[in-house]
Amino acid sequence: MLILVINCGSSSAKYQLFNIEKKRVIKKGVIERIGEKNSACRSHYHAIELIKNKLTRGKKAAIKSLKEIEGIGHRVVHGGEEFEKSTLITGKVMRSIEKFSELAPLHNPPALEGIAACRKFFPGTPEVAVFDTAFHQTMPEEAYLYGLPFYFYKKYGIRRYGFHGTSHRFISEEAARVLKRPLKKLKLVTAHLGNGCSMAAVLRGKSIDTTMGFTPLEGLLMGTRSGDLDPAIVTYLMRKERLTSAAMDDMLNKKCGLLGVSGLSNDMRDIRFYIRKGNKRARLAYDIFLYRIKKYIGAYASAMGGLDAVVFAGGIGENMPEVKNTLQKELRPVLGKRVKFLKIHTNEELLIAKDTHKIIKSL
Ligand code: ADP
Repeated sequence: MLILVINCGSSSAKYQLFNIEKKRVIKKGVIERIGEKNSACRSHYHAIELIKNKLTRGKKAAIKSLKEIEGIGHRVVHGGEEFEKSTLITGKVMRSIEKFSELAPLHNPPALEGIAACRKFFPGTPEVAVFDTAFHQTMPEEAYLYGLPFYFYKKYGIRRYGFHGTSHRFISEEAARVLKRPLKKLKLVTAHLGNGCSMAAVLRGKSIDTTMGFTPLEGLLMGTRSGDLDPAIVTYLMRKERLTSAAMDDMLNKKCGLLGVSGLSNDMRDIRFYIRKGNKRARLAYDIFLYRIKKYIGAYASAMGGLDAVVFAGGIGENMPEVKNTLQKELRPVLGKRVKFLKIHTNEELLIAKDTHKIIKSL
């Protein structure tokens, strides 16, 4: 059975065609710079048409007929409080995704455009939405509510949602496999460390807390995002620097984190390069990055009443063993030898393909 996975980001559309029985990727690629000046791709709608052409045309065509694709799985960033699981896309589901666009203005609209385009270019093929927020819907109220007047939660849905849920779910399931123990008996801390970084406390297979919040800004120090911050700093800086809310938003998302502290780069490979050259600010950025992870491991072990393993994934988590090794060494006196530190390759696309396959089989 062939399943197509589509991931429409703010200016890109990634795709992977899976043979699900063999867990094998038949073809994959990315359309970038969507909608930019001089780009060959006008919109996400157009991107899906280009993907269809790539799959079906030319000598390297992956398929002979569109009928070979039995389902399409879409990554959707925000499912609000409505979606705890992946779901078959209907008109009603599309309206909900649209409703949550307000909470994810850069991500939900392109996903929705991709879904609509697939209806046109892959007619009759069932589509499934896999939400970044879904895995964290098991968080209890005390973890997801902020100390704001309660009516803001009711009026605007202000609460912690968490993101990267597909990755946290995938790596917790893989960790159970590696540890040869049932997920239902494990207390895990998962760390997805890429450009965006987040951690989750996964108790018996369910997320009970996560570092990202109402938006992906909260929590760890990231490539260009600040992570945790005293909210008074925001209003203070807006006054002092005469920043509009859009400019402040832009700064917190694009000019902080590793980039802001080091003044050099948002990329951990560059930070590592400058540390080796003796650059103090690069070192400081790395130290803040590591310290926050350490702090959350302790917090989450405490929230779960114990800990079996800490799992690292994502570009940094998978390629920089020193992050895992340093934390393991520093935390040994606190956690003891029994707690395992694992590196696991995350594969969100495979999980999207599997969920899509499962839902389609049940139709
Ligand atoms: P995204 O969150 O955009 O999917 P990735 O998971 O690819 O990003 O992670 C990007 C981060 O991973 C960057 O900071 C990059 O420097 C880091 N990274 C990628 N490869 C390596 C590597 N070989 N060694 C160290 N860091 C790496």
